[in-house]
Amino acid sequence: MTYNTSLLNKSTERIKQKRLIGHVKRGSGGPTLIFFGGIHGNEPSGVSALTEVFKTLESRKDEFELNGEIFGLSGNLPALKKSVRFVDRDLNRLWTPTELDRIFDSEEGDLKNEENEAKEIYHLLREILLNSAPPFYFIDYHTTSADTIPFITINDALINRKFARLFPAPVILGIEEYLEGPLLSFINTKGYVAVGFESGKHSDAASIVNSEAMTWLCLKEAGFLKEAPMDLLEEKRKILENATKGNTHFYEITFREAITDKDNFKMHPGFENFGRIKKGVPLGVLNGEQKETSKDTLIFMPLYQRQGEEGYFFIRRIGNWALRLSAGIRKLNVHKWITLLPGVHESKQGNFGILVDLRVARFFSKALFHLLGYRSKKVDKNHLVIYNRELMANSEMYKDCTWYK
Ligand SMILES: [Zn+2]
Repeated sequence: MTYNTSLLNKSTERIKQKRLIGHVKRGSGGPTLIFFGGIHGNEPSGVSALTEVFKTLESRKDEFELNGEIFGLSGNLPALKKSVRFVDRDLNRLWTPTELDRIFDSEEGDLKNEENEAKEIYHLLREILLNSAPPFYFIDYHTTSADTIPFITINDALINRKFARLFPAPVILGIEEYLEGPLLSFINTKGYVAVGFESGKHSDAASIVNSEAMTWLCLKEAGFLKEAPMDLLEEKRKILENATKGNTHFYEITFREAITDKDNFKMHPGFENFGRIKKGVPLGVLNGEQKETSKDTLIFMPLYQRQGEEGYFFIRRIGNWALRLSAGIRKLNVHKWITLLPGVHESKQGNFGILVDLRVARFFSKALFHLLGYRSKKVDKNHLVIYNRELMANSEMYKDCTWYK
C-alpha cells in the first residue's frame, strides 16, 4: 500500500506546540482513554494521527455514538519543536520513583527541559485520574529508526496481554526489564492498562496511518465507540493487518546491547526489525569492536539514529502453550509462597518487590520468574529485585470489560 507523503509533511507542520491535542467527553461514566504522541520529539506521527482522529470525530459526529472520555496529549514539546528525540534528557527514561522525587524536590529553574515536561505531564495525569471515570487505558505512540512492521510493547501483566491481543499486531513482552523509567512502566505500577504502539519508521507517512488505525481500534475495543460506521472500523483493521503482514505472535526480549552517549556505535546497514539473523553475522561496530550474534536469532529495534540507549535487541517468539501456562500459574497466588524459597526475601523497596540473592538462589532462572509473573531488575552482582506484575495490576477495574472475560 502506498501513501501520499505530503500527508506526513503537512501534518508535521500542523503539530501545535501545545499539550492537549484533543479532548472529547460523553456522559459521566468511563472508559477514559489517554493517548500520547511525541514523547520522543523526532517521532511526531502519533501527534499527527491523533489530530486526524479528533478531526474525524468532529466532522462526522452524526455517525458516531460515543460513551466516556478521551484525551490526546503531546509529549515532549521542546523536542517536537526541534524534531529531536530529546533536548537534555530522554523523557521516556524519567519515570522512576527516584527521578520523580528529585524532580519534585527541585526548584523550577533548576530543572532541565524534559524534567519540566515530566512534571507537567505528571500533574495532568493526576488531574485526569482524579476527575475522569474508570476503566483507564493509556496508549503511547512511537516510531523506530529502522524499517519495521507496526508492533505493540507491553509490560507483562495479564490485563495488558488480554487488551493487546485484540489488535492485529505482534506483541513484545517485557521490554521494561531492559529500560529504566519508561512512562508506561510507571503507569503500570499504578495498575492501569498501558500499551505502547510503534507504528513504523520515523519518516514514513504510513506510520501516521497506522497510528490512526490503532487509535480507532482502541476506541472501539475499550467501548468508547458505541456506534460507529462499520466500514470505517473494517478499513482501519485492514490497514493494520496489511501493515503487520498478519503477524499477531507474542515475543520476549532475550538480549539488549546497551550503549551510552560516551560509546561510539554504528549499526551495519540493512537490518529490518523482526529480521531473522544467522549466527556469526556482523551487526555493527561498538567502540571499534565488531559485534555479532552467538546463535541464530531475531533482531529487534536496530538503531539507525544518533540518540538512543540501545544498539539493538534480540527477541524470541513465545509459543501459545507457554502463554497459556504462565497465565494459569499466575492465578495461583505465587506471591504468598515465593519468599519461602531459599535466598528469596521480601524487599524493603516496596512496590511488591522481592529480593533474590543469587549466591543462594542461583539455580532459579530468570525464565522461571517470568513464568510466575515476575519481572526482574539486577541491583548488583549478587542481587535481583523481582516485581510481581499481577499484584500491581488493578484487574478489578477491568473485570466487567468484554475483552477481559
Ligand atoms: Zn520513541
